[in-house]
Amino acid sequence: MLRTALVSDRRYLKHFAGRRHPERPARVAVMNEMAEQLGRARILALSPREASVEELELCHDPAYVAEVERSASMPRYDFDPDTHASPDSYQTARLAAGGVLTAVEAVMDGAADNAFAIVRPPGHHALAARAMGFCLFNNVAIAARYLIRRRGLKRVLVVDWDVHHGNGTQDIFYDSAEVLYFSTHQFPFYPGSGRLDEVGAGGGAGYTVNAPMPAKFGDNEYLRVFDDVLAPVVRQYRPEFILISAGFDAHFRDPLGGMRVTEAGFSALARRVKRLAAECCGGRMAAALEGGYDLKALADSGRSVIEELGREAGEPLARVGDGARVIPIIERSHYFLARYWKF
Ligand SMILES: [Zn+2]
Repeated sequence: MLRTALVSDRRYLKHFAGRRHPERPARVAVMNEMAEQLGRARILALSPREASVEELELCHDPAYVAEVERSASMPRYDFDPDTHASPDSYQTARLAAGGVLTAVEAVMDGAADNAFAIVRPPGHHALAARAMGFCLFNNVAIAARYLIRRRGLKRVLVVDWDVHHGNGTQDIFYDSAEVLYFSTHQFPFYPGSGRLDEVGAGGGAGYTVNAPMPAKFGDNEYLRVFDDVLAPVVRQYRPEFILISAGFDAHFRDPLGGMRVTEAGFSALARRVKRLAAECCGGRMAAALEGGYDLKALADSGRSVIEELGREAGEPLARVGDGARVIPIIERSHYFLARYWKF
């Protein structure tokens, strides 16, 4: 059995985006409650640290960090029509970025084999100089750059299975080969980016891999994309650490997303990532919560992924169903990536 570090904290309830806003404190409340019920033997429970301003600036412009800090002195601050801050949001967002750093440090320092961070606000839409899509700081992007700048790694993989495209993460690393960004997402959908031909630019050409899929695709299509696109690219890239932007809004119950992934599907995706981590980087991986707006889907999927992280990587992969509807997308993906990777 593997030892999984689990980062959680009640302080993540303090960010308040507004009445009836789907990104609400109850999301982490149900995740924390679920985490309390997990078998404690294999779990290393950790409290998050705050990210320092210098760490936030690994990915964000100083003027933008200062803007978020200023929002703490106002009763409410609107970054865009979807993205709002309350007086506690700045501290909570620093704790979210820091929570992913805590998870990554636990794995890097050998305290745990892998990790899951239950954090909010989410991060993958946040750009270097702009909040967007409920996200203030890009938690996973900051962790990726921390691994490169502060831990000396040269290749970090980000797997983003949130139902939305992580435009912020893609943008931050679009011209860099140090971070390979892979995303499955509903398309066309918010935020509009993530087409197959967005493959990176300059020195980062080939290091952005998008798998946009129409609504109603589910476990079999996702698994097939992971097996036929993600796995061959990762085996050639040989990442030294894998981060997962683990949103659960591709779940069939989710009120915002239109996909049909089940909690068993999420654990099968996690198993594939875990096996790639075992092959490439001694199993080093950490997942961070992104979206997911149905409370039951969130807790069930979170449990299923955290339990999967604790199982030995050697167990056989669950059989992939047919998933044939996604084959044309896989073929077009291979077409756009053929200059960079062998399939
Ligand atoms: Zn999302």
